[in-house]
Amino acid sequence: MERPGKIICVGRNYREHAKELGNEVPAEPLLFFKPPSCVIANGAPIELPADAGRVDFEGEVAVVIGAKLTKASEAQCAAAVRGIVAANDVSAREWQKNDGQWARAKGTDTFLPLGEESRKPHDLAALTVVTRVNGVERQRATTADLVFPIPTLLSFISRYITLYPNDLVLTGTPAGVGPLAANDVVEVEIVGHSQVRSPVVALS
Ligand code: ZN
Repeated sequence: MERPGKIICVGRNYREHAKELGNEVPAEPLLFFKPPSCVIANGAPIELPADAGRVDFEGEVAVVIGAKLTKASEAQCAAAVRGIVAANDVSAREWQKNDGQWARAKGTDTFLPLGEESRKPHDLAALTVVTRVNGVERQRATTADLVFPIPTLLSFISRYITLYPNDLVLTGTPAGVGPLAANDVVEVEIVGHSQVRSPVVALS
């Protein structure tokens, strides 16, 4: 997917991932943005900034919105999903911890590899997301494990922020996140639907 509209993400939406970073699962979805300028296509490199410290992969299911959603019900939101995309919510942990705002930690150029958009799946709660680094599986989960399922998440967002066609919502990452290094190759796959593969380079 080349040019999404706005990109809304949710933090800590899988219990085991919240735990691995020492966080509680929030009572409500924890939302943040990534800018469209950080999107890269399948095969394009993730660039590690020289001064970022630890930069992690986060394999995620992303949902493409197909209709305007304002204060919409879960049923309306489920019906408005146009497609899904494999996404890697690349995250600079030290900036995330120290900056207060996550703009740089989550929004640096190349920090959002996206696969091709796949048509809307039959069941939004039965998608399997897998992340591999250098061919080794590091994350695997299904959307049945989401703390806030996709329709619930979209409905919550639409209470405050109108969603438009071509907007993208990242649904959170499962347990198993870890740092990337130069010359790694990281792949995120939504099994049977979409995948994105990214070599990693270090900027000097
Ligand atoms: Zn994420």
